[in-house]
Amino acid sequence: MSAWSSVTLQYRFHQLTNGFYQTVLPTPLQLPEWVDWNSELAELLSLPKEPSPQLLSEFSGQILPDEFRPIAMKYAGHQFGQYNPDLGDGRGLLVAEIKAKNNLTYDVHIKGAGLTPFSRQGDGRAVLRSSIREYLCSEALYYLGIPTSRALGLINSRTPVYREKTETGAICIRVAESHIRFGHFEHFFYTGQHDQLKQLLDFCIDHYFVASQKTEKPYLSMFEQVVMSTAQLIAKWNAFGFAHGVLNTDNMSILGQTFDFGPFGFLDAYQPNYICNHSDYQGRYAFSNQPNIGLWNLTALAHALSPFIERSDLDSALENYEPELNQEYSRLMRNKTGLNTKQPQDGELFNQLFTLMAENKTDYTRFFRQLSMLDQDNEQAILDLFIDRSKAKQWLDRYLKRVEQESESIQQRCQAMRSFNPKYILRNHLAQIAIDRAEEGDYSEVKVLMELLKNPYEEQPKFDHYSNLPPSWAQELEISCSS
Ligand code: AMP
Ligand code: MG
Repeated sequence: MSAWSSVTLQYRFHQLTNGFYQTVLPTPLQLPEWVDWNSELAELLSLPKEPSPQLLSEFSGQILPDEFRPIAMKYAGHQFGQYNPDLGDGRGLLVAEIKAKNNLTYDVHIKGAGLTPFSRQGDGRAVLRSSIREYLCSEALYYLGIPTSRALGLINSRTPVYREKTETGAICIRVAESHIRFGHFEHFFYTGQHDQLKQLLDFCIDHYFVASQKTEKPYLSMFEQVVMSTAQLIAKWNAFGFAHGVLNTDNMSILGQTFDFGPFGFLDAYQPNYICNHSDYQGRYAFSNQPNIGLWNLTALAHALSPFIERSDLDSALENYEPELNQEYSRLMRNKTGLNTKQPQDGELFNQLFTLMAENKTDYTRFFRQLSMLDQDNEQAILDLFIDRSKAKQWLDRYLKRVEQESESIQQRCQAMRSFNPKYILRNHLAQIAIDRAEEGDYSEVKVLMELLKNPYEEQPKFDHYSNLPPSWAQELEISCSS
């Protein structure tokens, strides 16, 4: 029986005509093999819990099942502030949409499936290294509670792919409610194809912003929601210490989900100007600049929607961005510190903490996790995260005094805080160890990390060392932008 017989398939995007995509067959990978298969997500999609040779042939492009209608989407976008009209799916194909058990419909996209008309100078491939990073990080964010595309499976092969050295071609099976990016709208706007621009807006409203249909100005209502969801997403990234790395408008999902993983990084030491992308010489996509860039990107989207939404309405919608981002960020930071009531001095308490953490290069994730263990007599472990312990002690005493004004017991507060402060995150060095082993043919570490990161907030004693500070070699890790 085919793995697809129990799956409900849809082809909604395929119904858009005139320049939205091109039909492209995948170029098969040579000697593909499964690196990992995400059983939980497979189950949600009504696919088998176990990966099979049949599914391997289908997802690696060796066999085209009747259920797949592979297309490469056309889009454009602003890359590092410059408009590039020539983008599109250059190495990934949307093969089908699946109606899942939760009643949501998900796009299934194979990233690394070979050349398309939008490949430009590229080879249409994705290497194992970057595919492992996307596979692990998208699931890690999902389990942290950050909106994101997801990953159903990961395939490696013997197809040689040339980057700085010869690597192997891989396919990450990406699953997302939508693959529509800000850059889709920019493409139709800048080419003057306003009929298509309108079709795309109507498509989004019909499928993703259904509630907007009933409003007086459906397009505006949709844009307002994009503004809000983008603000909330970026607030979450910054509260969790996540830097995306390449916030070009073609990597911005219309649904406010983390999308297109490249040289991303979680903060180890707190460093507001952390730049994870080594090609980002100006620091345009530095950690602390993500909120500004979110607004820049939304402004680019607003411009592309200007034929259908009045300028003054677009401007008022954009004005909601900053307050929404600040409100969400402050909510998250209050959760992380257990400060449920608002007191006039709280802002100063947070500012002092961030200054102290930056000066002391304090590990961001470990600090907040330790702060949520104060019910276990761990003051010293907190102070040990700082070079200047006496200053840290001053801050901690202030904090301890402040939390006395909260009504919960210390146990209640710490227990709640542990559900907001992960113990395990996908640190760069952990991903790198899994990559190094996988490149030698051993995929076990990818599977270990996948299991670990599914429960980031739980103590997992046998994996305790995965929460350790990064080893010294990790400081020299440069994540290549070539993927
Ligand atoms: P990214 O940096 O992955 O967001 O990609 C930016 C643009 O370059 C998109 O249009 C991609 O499809 C395209 N692209 C990236 N890598 C490749 C590749 N190896 N072959 C073809 N196109 C690529
Ligand atoms: Mg991209």
